[in-house]
Amino acid sequence: MITISNLHFHYPNSEFRLTVPESAVSSGEKIAVVGPSGSGKTTLLNLLAGILTPDQGKVQVGEVAVSEQGDAGRRDFRISNIGFIFQDFELLDYLSILDNILHPYRITGALQLTGEVRQRAISLAEEMGIAGHLKKHPDELSQGEKQRAAICRALLPKPDLILADEATGNLDPANKTRILDLLFKSVEDHDATLVAVTHDHELLPRFDRVIDFQSFQSGDGP
Ligand code: ADP
Ligand code: MG
Repeated sequence: MITISNLHFHYPNSEFRLTVPESAVSSGEKIAVVGPSGSGKTTLLNLLAGILTPDQGKVQVGEVAVSEQGDAGRRDFRISNIGFIFQDFELLDYLSILDNILHPYRITGALQLTGEVRQRAISLAEEMGIAGHLKKHPDELSQGEKQRAAICRALLPKPDLILADEATGNLDPANKTRILDLLFKSVEDHDATLVAVTHDHELLPRFDRVIDFQSFQSGDGP
């Protein structure tokens, strides 16, 4: 599903360096990524999603060499094939929660917004316990509710790859288990692949494999 080869990345004006010599994730695998703050976990997810491009090396997701696509190609590929649950949610304040969840369908021709999709959005919101908030705006929701809205948005297009950046970080223990169950169920139902950054070590046994981020690090990074 994912192959990374000889990847080198740095931000302009930053000492941080990320290098990944070779790494592969099989289709359907559920991977946890752990590591200290600032070690580059979010950077790696952004490289997998084609939000960032490497200085050197190749990132392949499914049939697509993400790192070799142009800006528009990476964007369309990401919106239709990758469900990204961002660490800071990235909900749009001027849209209702329902419109946030439907947003991927409005910004690419690759996805078609039908009645069935709308219905599925509402069902997902019900499963996540936020169906009563669909008409509200993000600033009227708690952190945990925003996080669940971001998860609904990521799952709605039934992506092949789900990238979750501390997706359970703001949830209380009961919700954490429920949301994780839903995330795993969605992954299994769609034969999707999951790469999840987490700080919750008690969740690690639920994953097929744990990548400890420390092993990717080199250079002068923290
Ligand atoms: P993590 O998710 O593991 O906490 P990040 O991938 O967010 O780590 O960050 C890795 C390093 O890159 C940190 O030192 C961080 O300060 C730096 N960094 C992150 N984003 C940027 C950016 N846009 N510009 C410059 N440096 C950045
Ligand atoms: Mg991070």
